[in-house]
Amino acid sequence: MNSSSSSPECLLCENPGKSVGRPINYECPRCGKYQVSHELNEDFQYKSARELLTCWVREQDLKGIQVVLTSDNIDTIVNSIPHNSALEKLDRLLDNLQMVHPHPGEWFDVFGDNDYPLAWARDTEVFYYFLDSLANQHLIEYPNAHHPVFQRFKASPNTAHKIRITTDGWKRLDELRRTPAHSTIAFVAMSFSPDLKDAWENGIRPAVKEAGYTPHRVDMEPHVENIPMKILADIKRSRFVVADLTESKHGVYLEAGYAMGLGLPVIFTVSESHKDDIHFDLKQFNQIRWKDAKDLNERLHDTISVIIGNRNRPAQ
Ligand SMILES: [Zn+2]
Repeated sequence: MNSSSSSPECLLCENPGKSVGRPINYECPRCGKYQVSHELNEDFQYKSARELLTCWVREQDLKGIQVVLTSDNIDTIVNSIPHNSALEKLDRLLDNLQMVHPHPGEWFDVFGDNDYPLAWARDTEVFYYFLDSLANQHLIEYPNAHHPVFQRFKASPNTAHKIRITTDGWKRLDELRRTPAHSTIAFVAMSFSPDLKDAWENGIRPAVKEAGYTPHRVDMEPHVENIPMKILADIKRSRFVVADLTESKHGVYLEAGYAMGLGLPVIFTVSESHKDDIHFDLKQFNQIRWKDAKDLNERLHDTISVIIGNRNRPAQ
């Protein structure tokens, strides 16, 4: 069934790779495995987002999540990819390294040219800078402690570099496990009016659960003057937030804004009949505009699977 495509290069990083079938299955040593719909492949207008997409797709592939890029989801994905600080990149690099090689005590190879997305780095040189930063903090080590990769970079940009994660590195990974990036809680911000009971019970709640997360909704009418600290603490320990803007409750806006400020992914939804009531500031963000609970359920489930990852349905 599979036939060779006319574009053998990776769509994202233009690395020589393999692409076959419809939807097109790309296999790139840098970006990992991912799929692209035929329409998006024919008309890919996201060249400026390629660097970020490369890192994001590689990370999803490492987690065992199958990425399918389509004309329908590419905007949402590009807008939802986090912009990591330098310290966050260091943590992500360490976490990604343990996914590449999850065996304590063993040496393994990293390749500058193909593995730089592990650090959300833009190129090999920046990747080596981050590797050396981890080594300087004694979170990883090289076989020869006095051989920082960065200094050797210019002489040998494409060589394999042996590293291993130290005891301090595994300790740091344990700490990271307890942070929102590894949480399985999804905070749901929405109006609690009876009109939205169906949307919650047959839309949002099952969509979140079926993607492998625990939906958490604070069942009390929030007031903008007095958002209890517990709500903010609950958001802080969540993996992502679903914010339904139907009925334009102030509390929902505040909770979504707080989550965005923390850098958490926020998935906006709104009933088709209320879409024009959304505050101007939020109109620029993608929203799932749903017709009924069933429609909301299906589209939210798909969006969570694409952006956050479906914990119940790993690739292969
Ligand atoms: Zn690639």
